[in-house]
Amino acid sequence: MAKLVEHRFNDEWIVQSLLDEGVTDIEAVYKARLEKAPEFAELLLDGKLCTEDLLYAAVRRRHKIASTVPDPSEIERMALSLLPERLCRSRLMIPVSCDHEKVVVAMARPIDLDGVADIEKMTGRKAEPRFCLARNVRQLLDLLLSPELVLEDVTAQLRSEAAQVQVVGDMADAMGVSISSPVIRLVDTLIAKAVAMKASDVHFELSDNESVIRFRIDGIMRSIMRIPLYSSRPVVSRIKIMANLDVAEHRRPQDGRAKLMVSGAEIGLRVSILPTAHGETAVLRLLDKRVASVPFDQLGFRDSLASRFRRLITAKQGFVLVTGPTGSGKTTTLYSAVNLLKSETTNIVTVEDPIEYKLDGINQVQINEKQGLTFAGVLRSVLRQDPNVILVGEIRDRETAEVAFQAATTGHLVLSTLHTNDTVGTVGRLLDIGIEKGRIASGLTGVTAQRLVRRLCAVCRVQEDASDPAALRLLERFSLPKTVWAPRGCTECHLTGYQGRVALIELLKIEREVKDQISSGASENEIYDAGIRTGRLYPMTLDAMSAAVEGRTSLKEAMAIVNAFDIREATQRAPSAYSAGTPPEALAAADSVTRAADDEAPEAEPGTRRRRVLVVDDEKAIRVILKITLERAGFEVLESDGGETALAMVLNERPELLLTDLDMPGLDGRQLVKAVRGDLGMLDMPIVVLTASARKNQREDLLAAGVNDYLTKPFDP
Ligand SMILES: [Zn+2]
Repeated sequence: MAKLVEHRFNDEWIVQSLLDEGVTDIEAVYKARLEKAPEFAELLLDGKLCTEDLLYAAVRRRHKIASTVPDPSEIERMALSLLPERLCRSRLMIPVSCDHEKVVVAMARPIDLDGVADIEKMTGRKAEPRFCLARNVRQLLDLLLSPELVLEDVTAQLRSEAAQVQVVGDMADAMGVSISSPVIRLVDTLIAKAVAMKASDVHFELSDNESVIRFRIDGIMRSIMRIPLYSSRPVVSRIKIMANLDVAEHRRPQDGRAKLMVSGAEIGLRVSILPTAHGETAVLRLLDKRVASVPFDQLGFRDSLASRFRRLITAKQGFVLVTGPTGSGKTTTLYSAVNLLKSETTNIVTVEDPIEYKLDGINQVQINEKQGLTFAGVLRSVLRQDPNVILVGEIRDRETAEVAFQAATTGHLVLSTLHTNDTVGTVGRLLDIGIEKGRIASGLTGVTAQRLVRRLCAVCRVQEDASDPAALRLLERFSLPKTVWAPRGCTECHLTGYQGRVALIELLKIEREVKDQISSGASENEIYDAGIRTGRLYPMTLDAMSAAVEGRTSLKEAMAIVNAFDIREATQRAPSAYSAGTPPEALAAADSVTRAADDEAPEAEPGTRRRRVLVVDDEKAIRVILKITLERAGFEVLESDGGETALAMVLNERPELLLTDLDMPGLDGRQLVKAVRGDLGMLDMPIVVLTASARKNQREDLLAAGVNDYLTKPFDP
């Protein structure tokens, strides 16, 4: 029996438990364990060396541990949610039931003290181990933690309104790939949610052990839910099928498109799949057709700018460029301009790559470089049809620019976009791609530079006196009032204080002195100065500050643009700006300013501050007890005495955990949970509720509502 002492196997305790039970042939079992390597329990039972009853009795006698063979229906979902799946699988255990003091766990190795300690640490409850055969534990884990069930759960939480999603031309059947319905429902529900929350993108990202789903709303990323890593692959497969991509391809990037009907509205989807170290990630860009039909007066241009821009685009001929970085709303501006110009007598043609939105009553031509349909080539053919207005998706090269200039000086109005930072920089960019200065001066009629900022919620915005010294200086410079607007947050705006976005623009009219400066080869500085002096340049900083004073956006949003813009202006004002371009480090600095402004809303880096808990209870005594306890445990505690204020704090203070009472006047705990999970779409914030009693039914209800755990009152601190 020397081998028994060596402890070579971590399930050896089972054999040792049986030493007093008269089980013979232990040597043979060891030999089999060495050769075939199944577990001892299996060898003993399958070899008929002992019965399950004998094994259970032995474990009870020797270790004082009861055994269990739980039926799947006996496993409480609340208990199951207390431990992460990875821990359960690695330690071969599964929580069976719980109350607020203890958790009963079926374990293949109930004498594993580390495992028991892990359970107690993770659940904050005393662990009651029960012996359960390893194969039974595995079976239960596979059954209860299947991707389908997990996805059903999160989908149920996310679904706050019944939305109908239909993929136009769903290829799933034709491709012979079967995707389980929970996966389809999850993807559909996410897209419906994204549309309802007016998100522009849905990101499926991967980390070491989970997939994080995030929405971009009004330009800011918001984490929506986390799903286990193993669920992410079928989800990405589903997305591939929707976009008609190769499901079997996992190593190269793929791009595709899909068309969906979401609650009756047609939504285009641009899909991009990217392989990463952890697996494939997906980004869905939502192309809402309504974006292409924003009426011109709803773009948010202030009146004086709107009329200047309108004069430019209603001219018989000319060349108007809308510039700005990706995602600055250039397309929306151009489309709304086209919609404004649309009439029975005006012939409008667009040349695009790709055609993002179909416009009624407009001839849209798709570029296809592979088939020789280049911007320049198509543009030449279009000109032969002599349209009044031509929209060119983007000026990418000299050839296209040349044809566009030719059209603009021969009785056509040309509208297009260019990737530049500001208006005077556009002149430099055109020189860079090889257009003569004389041609620019005679053809170009106007340039706008555009940025999007969040539009203040008109319902709850508040006025305040500006205090930022830089802002005060600018308000002074433009002789603007010192009173600006700030966000507050209400139910209309999901407590963000903002609703939608508004364009801030800089507008340069190429006339008189500005024209002369360009044709004489003046520097960007000189053009800028001439523009300001003659009133031909309406600068971005002025529009931004006006927007904050008028309440179109907040001072904070405006200043973020001003700061990024000023850095660029300063570098471009440098001598020989045409040839030198903007130094990369200056661009990086500008980007980091923009990013810093962007990053304030999303979650902070972990570890940079104490973990914050928001405690919500209408009884002060309870809040005080919890505050003391939690602070002692190293948490920072925020307090709220009701659901409404709590909801605002969840959004503005971003606590890492929400601890809320159930019964409160006004918005109660249940409604608060629903609002956080449903309306705010925050599926990954842990929520613990305080409840006076928690019967099993109620616990399951809470779990279904999106609660992670509960505490019963009264409780000892
Ligand atoms: Zn509001």
